[in-house]
Amino acid sequence: MAQTGRQLVVLSVLVSAISGAYITSVEHNGQGEIDVTYNVALGQGEPYKEQMCSPSDRHFSYNPSSSAGPSQWWRISQCCGGHLQSPIALDRHRARCASMPTPQYSMGNVSMKGKLHDSGHHVMLTFASDVTRPRLCNVGKKSDVMQYVLDHVHMHFGSPYSRGSEHVIDDEQFQGEIHMVHYKAEHGSVSEAMLHRDGLTVVAIPISSQRGDQNDQLYHLLQAVQGLDDVEHSVPFTLTPDALLPGRRDMFYYRGSLTTPPCSETVQFLVVDQPLHVSPDQLQVLWRLPSSEKSVPISRYGNVRPLVPANNRPVLTNFVCWCCIFQ
Ligand SMILES: [Zn+2]
Repeated sequence: MAQTGRQLVVLSVLVSAISGAYITSVEHNGQGEIDVTYNVALGQGEPYKEQMCSPSDRHFSYNPSSSAGPSQWWRISQCCGGHLQSPIALDRHRARCASMPTPQYSMGNVSMKGKLHDSGHHVMLTFASDVTRPRLCNVGKKSDVMQYVLDHVHMHFGSPYSRGSEHVIDDEQFQGEIHMVHYKAEHGSVSEAMLHRDGLTVVAIPISSQRGDQNDQLYHLLQAVQGLDDVEHSVPFTLTPDALLPGRRDMFYYRGSLTTPPCSETVQFLVVDQPLHVSPDQLQVLWRLPSSEKSVPISRYGNVRPLVPANNRPVLTNFVCWCCIFQ
């Protein structure tokens, strides 16, 4: 028994030493639950330490049978095997209500001239370096006001046989998802920002083909996609960022990762609760886009990373949710 006792002590010391490396100032309330406060939403109190990985040129695929498929991405970049990955399943009943500010753009009504192209993995809208870029206000910490600069916009989508949003809300997967990617101004670029805590903010907007008011910007964006017929071929497109965001900005907030390698865990995700609507016909223009894998359209496998475990990460909302009734 004495031997067993010593073994237990040694084991507990080892566990403490190992877990101590990962636990960062977790706060508990009276019931032993993580005290989800404004600060937790802003990046303090998660049970795991985020991993940061550099950009990589290594080939990756969405083909689940490929040696470079999503389940193997951790071989391409170790961050992809981390505990703070994205996308995750979101649940309105389990998310915590918080007084989160509603994000909006400074100069969101400016017109940004850009290039729409098929990257081989996504439809991507990028902008020249001399284009005035709006900044996203009211993200996270008060000291971060107006710190996040819009870098680019890309789209995830499925196929006639599969849905294409990365995040799932109350078990509902949508037809697609827009990602508006921002970097913290002090880092100067996405590739540098992915090496810093909270370096990136991604606004994720689900797309639905069910009936609803259509968003003009998305309509015109998909019209322009019709002009893309080859990988890296580009067409001009002018974006008004504020107009792509829905009028009602109910959102989920959580800390996660890039959803493609290198999967750096430096992303604040803001996931819009309600989808933008497009017609079923418009979705079809996405399904024929060629991929980087020779004569196979992107829609063959879609460009959606399968859900990953949330690992008890706090998920907050800026809207009154069911959980408020019970809190
Ligand atoms: Zn994305």
